This record gives sequence, C-alpha cells and structure tokens, in this order.
Amino acid sequence: MNRLLAGYQRFRAHGWPAQRKALEALAKHGQSPKAMVVACVDSRVDPTMIFDAAPGELLTVRNVANLVPPYAPDAAYHGTSAALEFGVITLGVPHLMVLGHGLCGGVRALLEGAPEDAHEFVAPWMSLAQTARAIALHRETPEERQQCCEHEVVKVSLENLMTFPWIASRVASGKLQLHGAWFAIHSGVLTVLQTDGTFAPPE
Ligand SMILES: [Zn+2]
Repeated sequence: MNRLLAGYQRFRAHGWPAQRKALEALAKHGQSPKAMVVACVDSRVDPTMIFDAAPGELLTVRNVANLVPPYAPDAAYHGTSAALEFGVITLGVPHLMVLGHGLCGGVRALLEGAPEDAHEFVAPWMSLAQTARAIALHRETPEERQQCCEHEVVKVSLENLMTFPWIASRVASGKLQLHGAWFAIHSGVLTVLQTDGTFAPPE
C-alpha cells in the first residue's frame, strides 16, 4: 500500500501537472477513444505502455489470457462483453484489437492444467479456448506449444468477437476494424496478425 501511495504522490507532483489540461478537457467533453484493446491481466503487458497512449486514447479491457467469450446475452455476469458493448456501441471505437502475449500464465494453465488453487474460475474460463489448445498440442516442444497457443487464443477471441451481431454488422459496414497482435515480454517486440494467419512485425 505504501508503494501505491508513494506512486500516487509522484503522479500528483509530476504526472498531474503535465496531464492536467488534457484530463480536465476529457472530464468536460467526455472520452472518445479511437481504439479498444482486449489484453491480459498480466502486470507486464500494459497496453497503455506498449502503445505509448495518453489518457483518453485507449479503452482497455483486461482479463485472464485476453479471451473474448462468445456472444451470450443471458443472465450471467459478462464483464468482457459489457466492456465491448460500451466500447463498440456507446463510444463507437473504430478499431478493436486483441492483444496476446508471451509467457502467458492463462495459456500455460490451458495447456498444462490450471494451478491447484485456480480451479474455481481460471480453469472454466480458459476452457473457452479449447480449440487453440488442440491446435497447439501438435507442436513439438513446450515452448512452441506455448507460443502457438498464445497466437491461437488471439484468433479464438477474434472469431468470438464476430459472434456479437453489433460487431459483425459494424465490421461488414466498415465502421469497425478488428486486429490481432502479440507482445513478446522478453524483447518488447510487438507482432501483428496477418491475413495468412501468421504474426509479423508491423510495417
Ligand atoms: Zn497472460
């Protein structure tokens, strides 16, 4: 807690004066971010840091392994779907990215089984990506399986995004573009999903 409060004091001393005008304008006029990112909760994969984004620029939703569940307007508490509805319909973001990453613990749980103490929610959540697991298991080494599964999870999320009728219609009309990307923590390099299904550095 002391560390959090010390960080807040630094923000008030340095960050707030620098951001004051921008934040006051955002408070007055509201936000209109041009992109939304679905990222992992992993503390090393902060979309705001990776894309060097200022307040108001990036709407983010983070969950275990950047997974998007299929469209299911039922009585369950769909946190990620609620964030998508807000970003896509209410704010009308023109770009929506699923950002996967290396060394993902959620993906490791999917491949090797969830840790003993994470069976209540993590295991059923990660079962959303069983198809990614099935593809990755064909790879030879544990490292290859892990990275392949991280890539495939991004594709599963993109496919599930298209099950939301208000996302599919906006994609069809050109109002919304979907993107996939993967961030390598150890090198800080971002690769982007190509039309052929591979991930490559942005041009
Ligand atoms: Zn992760």
